[in-house]
Amino acid sequence: MRRWKIILAAAVLALAAAGCAPEEEEEKEPVKKVADLVIDVEGEDEEKKEEPDKTADEEKQEDGQDNKQARTQTIVIDPGHSAVVAEGTEPLGPGSTENKAADTSGTSGVVSGLNEYELNLQVSRRLRTELQERGYTVIMTRDTNDVPLSCIERADVANNNEADAFVRIHANGSEDSSAKGAMTICITPDNKFYPELYEQARSLSDNIINCLSEVTGCENDGVWETDSMSGNNWSRVPATIVEMGYMTNPDEDALMATEDYQKKIAKGIADGIDRYFGYQG
Ligand SMILES: [Zn+2]
Repeated sequence: MRRWKIILAAAVLALAAAGCAPEEEEEKEPVKKVADLVIDVEGEDEEKKEEPDKTADEEKQEDGQDNKQARTQTIVIDPGHSAVVAEGTEPLGPGSTENKAADTSGTSGVVSGLNEYELNLQVSRRLRTELQERGYTVIMTRDTNDVPLSCIERADVANNNEADAFVRIHANGSEDSSAKGAMTICITPDNKFYPELYEQARSLSDNIINCLSEVTGCENDGVWETDSMSGNNWSRVPATIVEMGYMTNPDEDALMATEDYQKKIAKGIADGIDRYFGYQG
């Protein structure tokens, strides 16, 4: 009888401890040891197996919660521009009477000689790999340089696939060759098309620019809120444009052309996406 009480007390303690600290790795070990002890002691008594079984189930649940690798979201990556620029104009957003160019040719590297659309695709492919390794489903709006895509067509890839985030990869250009740094771009709270997406788009943009800056060490130029980007306006899912750096700045351009720095960019953006969705890494 006394042994029965001890076993019950141990099992109750084990359950209580497991409930209090589901995510604390350090506190899980002692719990397992108590549970093991209970199983050993009561081996012959069938009725008493109930409690340890519950404890084992609790541990399985904890293990499931600790598995931070299970990414369930779909990310659409849009490598900006293309070697074949989409012709014509299209509305700034759904129902808008204001028209903008369907796409533009982008900038180019003063040192690397790369076209922006080439750099954008190189980094996008590395980002795809990084995200897939973390378990995300990834779809690209383009995976070659010779396909014309308008901004609406790009946004529709995210819309039609019901993506959880639409991440558009670009590099910046300026007449001032000293201009440098990275930024992200999202809609304003007063967006005429999908203002309800503002909070998520802003959070996605904040997390990406902060992680990108932390991982690469680049200047953090923050988030630019604007409703002038038709690709963002047409997106029915949270969207952000990542301006990775300035191709008109000799140092930043040379850096962005390297494999090592491109991998850091991909890791920084992926970390930001993880943080946006609440994954601890
Ligand atoms: Zn661009």
